[in-house]
Amino acid sequence: MGMGNAPVIILREGTKREKGKDAQFNNIAAARAISDAVRSSLGPRGMDKMLVDSLGDVVITNDGVTILKEMDVQHPAAKMLVEVAKTQDAEVGDGTTTSVILAGELLKKATDLIDANVHPTIIASGYRLANDKAQEVLKNIAKKVTLEDEDTLELIAQTAMISKSVNNSKEYFGKMVVEAVKTIVDKDEEGNYAIDLRNIQTVKKGGAKMDESYIVKGLIIDKEPVQPNMPKLVENAKIALIDAAFEVKKTEIDAQIKITDPSQLSAFVAEEEKMLKDMVMKVKAVGANVVFCQKGIDDLAQHFFAKEGIYACRRVKKSDMERLGRSTGASIVNKIMEIDESDLGYAEKVELKKVEDEDMTFIMGVKEPKTVSVLVRGGTAHVADEVERSLVDAWSVVKVAIEDGMMVTGGGSTAMEIAMQLRDYAASIGGRAQIAIEAYASAMEIIPSTLAENAGHDPIDVVIEMRKQHKAGNIYGGFNPYTGKVEDMAALNVIEPYRIGKQAINSATDAAVMILRIDDVIASRASNQLQTGDGMPMPGMDD
Ligand code: ADP
Ligand code: MG
Repeated sequence: MGMGNAPVIILREGTKREKGKDAQFNNIAAARAISDAVRSSLGPRGMDKMLVDSLGDVVITNDGVTILKEMDVQHPAAKMLVEVAKTQDAEVGDGTTTSVILAGELLKKATDLIDANVHPTIIASGYRLANDKAQEVLKNIAKKVTLEDEDTLELIAQTAMISKSVNNSKEYFGKMVVEAVKTIVDKDEEGNYAIDLRNIQTVKKGGAKMDESYIVKGLIIDKEPVQPNMPKLVENAKIALIDAAFEVKKTEIDAQIKITDPSQLSAFVAEEEKMLKDMVMKVKAVGANVVFCQKGIDDLAQHFFAKEGIYACRRVKKSDMERLGRSTGASIVNKIMEIDESDLGYAEKVELKKVEDEDMTFIMGVKEPKTVSVLVRGGTAHVADEVERSLVDAWSVVKVAIEDGMMVTGGGSTAMEIAMQLRDYAASIGGRAQIAIEAYASAMEIIPSTLAENAGHDPIDVVIEMRKQHKAGNIYGGFNPYTGKVEDMAALNVIEPYRIGKQAINSATDAAVMILRIDDVIASRASNQLQTGDGMPMPGMDD
């Protein structure tokens, strides 16, 4: 036998490798499994999912990114689609389901083309052209919205919340969301609006109806003063933030003191008492009447604080400390004995209030008014969680609408208009790229067709009717899930920020193109992750 016949093995035994069409189809199948998993949750008539983790904790949601984050996705191509959702969430805060469904459909249409022997690189470059054109169309059909258009902004907030359980109180929450965002709006150096959503804080409590949620212009800290005989209300609060314990370290004492007779013991106790008292008196001396401490406060120190009429909380969360710092102007101090008057922050009022049966500290009239808190209520903790997710979606869309100053209509109307204009564009390009651009155009129609399907209507009928209306020039023709008809979305006030579409189209295209260009998957034995999200091995993987 000649040497030339022996296969050369360059990969470690156990390494899995897929090449060519197998690799492509498996990757696409895995990615599509992800988009199929979230499909049924799209839109006002979308269903919720109940997710149970390995510890038995339950999340009920129809938020695309939440569903995908909770799912333990293994397959590398599937993970790329999860990334699409996460990017959408980070950049826009809404439209996560849309972006994933779009990516899945772009891949599905690509499979048809690969079957018809169109090379994946041709599809990829056609998709890129289509993406650019889609962005251009989107920009052209977008309309202006400004900070002063409160009613419009409320409608944008409502559209984001409509598919969520808060839908019945959407007017109430829409007002709340716009008020919250308008309170924290800022301008950057160039004079553009800049909105830092970290300045909106949520505090969740179950046990009340969701429309008992309310907004507070200030901060809420889920803490009460360490001692009941401390004041319940401090006006003109001078606030100290301390990241150090009001305690005498026991280790130091162990190392240094050896007690031989009782008088030494009492001297030692007196010394300890003096050290604690010095700490408290130092804080008082610089003028603080409220103390938030990230660490512990010794019993004796608590007693001194109470005696001085100082409102003191201990073990305050780091994130709360930072928020307190930002909004009251206080700096966080690490060494108690080095605190200075200039480290203190200010609030008109610090007050202990009862929420349900729990005491919380409200900090109102802060120096920097650009801080709001929303007390989120819900019948149970799970409901309160979903209310919070809906509010986060809503103020995210209001934020990006204000920042970009642009909005589009929903209900699949914008996706359909893009599809229509892409088809004209494809014809002008011709050749093989034309086929890919046409496939891209059809993929856009997955948005109206899924909305129709989830509302129990025939997706094909709806898409055909919608094409007809767009051809006739009604660029706002979209699907109304409540009537099952194609109607004018601008007239129905179904509006959303331009950035949802912009980002969803971009990241869905990126992911689809990236997956299409892979024709070789080499997985080491250790990773062994070539299976879909639901734990089913991919066909053809184990031979
Ligand atoms: P996503 O995670 O993508 O935001 P949603 O479940 O929030 O998914 O659904 C968003 C889709 O629902 C968008 O296409 C939006 O235009 C559509 N939609 C929202 N409200 C309405 C409405 N009243 N009528 C028609 N479509 C709507
Ligand atoms: Mg949404």
